[in-house]
Amino acid sequence: NSPLSEVDPEIAAVLEQELGRQRNTLEMIASENFVPRAVLEAQGSVLTNKYAEGYPGRRYYGGCEFVDVAESLAISRAKELFGAAYANVQPHSGASANAAVLSAIASPGDRILGLALDQGGHLTHGMKLNFSGKLYEANAYGVDPTTHRIDMDQVREKALEVKPHVLIAGWSAYPRQLDFAAFRAIADEVGAVLWVDMAHFAGLVAAGLHPSPVPHAHVTSSTVHKTIGGPRSGFILTNDLETQKKLNSNVFPGQQGGPLMHVIAAKATAFKLAGEPEFRERQERTIRGAQILAERLAAADVAEAGVSVLTGGTDVHLVLVDLRNAAIHGQDAEDILHSVGITVNRNAVPNDPRPPMTPSGVRIGTPALATRGFGDAEFTEVADVIAAALKPNPDVAALRSRVEKLAGDFPLYEGLESPGRWS
Ligand code: PLP
Repeated sequence: NSPLSEVDPEIAAVLEQELGRQRNTLEMIASENFVPRAVLEAQGSVLTNKYAEGYPGRRYYGGCEFVDVAESLAISRAKELFGAAYANVQPHSGASANAAVLSAIASPGDRILGLALDQGGHLTHGMKLNFSGKLYEANAYGVDPTTHRIDMDQVREKALEVKPHVLIAGWSAYPRQLDFAAFRAIADEVGAVLWVDMAHFAGLVAAGLHPSPVPHAHVTSSTVHKTIGGPRSGFILTNDLETQKKLNSNVFPGQQGGPLMHVIAAKATAFKLAGEPEFRERQERTIRGAQILAERLAAADVAEAGVSVLTGGTDVHLVLVDLRNAAIHGQDAEDILHSVGITVNRNAVPNDPRPPMTPSGVRIGTPALATRGFGDAEFTEVADVIAAALKPNPDVAALRSRVEKLAGDFPLYEGLESPGRWS
């Protein structure tokens, strides 16, 4: 029972350094967040020891009476939070949820149609090296080349041409809301199953700040660790009993063996917190922060440097910065922001003229900073730092100290003396 610091000082040092990095820098990767202490406790718990193949009340192992309670709570809370009839909370990740979804609603060789990866879609929606592109005949719709928005007439045209078995709505890099009723009408017209992957915007949906796909989609999948701010994992929702039976058998035994019961317990806690008023208030700050950032990056001084914002703004938790007319590319921008203490990721813009490793965009998200407590004033300050960093000849040292001030004003994991040890 020796502590990690004695058993494995090298790994203990990694944890220590990563905690320091998270505390001292500003995390603006759109898919990241900080889980609360309660989630860390549930996830770093003895539940990791338990095998529980099967579902609550129908397990292939003995001794599941307590983990059954955890999974049942996660299921009922997910259903209530999103107004769904059925939930599967076992997927280890968003990608494994999506693998189970496709194997439940399609057969190998079936045509699928989703948003193109280089226009904001996800790997699991048909990328050729991913299972979704290898097992299924993947087709893609794009965004409109001028507005950079998804145009439902163009989606319909593509769907009529491809006649997909599965129509996929959802994204990893897109700053606007989707019209789920229009997606469903197209799916019905072409005889497709509508699958919505709400991994990115699920927290906004839970807070009632983004339309819900659940009443429209045949199946909805999600991660728990992005805007929801829970443990790294996935879940799947549906309103149809037959679909649920297929989803259950395609998660286990189709894709996975034993569920991660410690993660499922942490999911239950995250779903509980997502039903509380503080969660909604945090999601409001998240969207407001992204809008403040978009406004700042659309200002004249930034435009002069060739920097702009795709679609001219945002309705969600992220901003897509367009550097096609800038001297710097996405990798440069990522590096400059890293040097001032802000973490973001480079991203392709639709029809990007630059190569994938040095694309013309950056994706910047606000969920983690909203969790940290940022409001309008702090988002205004961080937006100004980013604007200055993206203009020619930034004063890196001065910007770095502004970032340090913001990070210092909003301490992270107060009372966590070293990873795993709370005062
Ligand atoms: N679906 C979408 C839309 C995503 O953006 C992501 C993550 O980036 C995933 C699925 C996959 O989630 P995970 O990384 O947990 O496999």
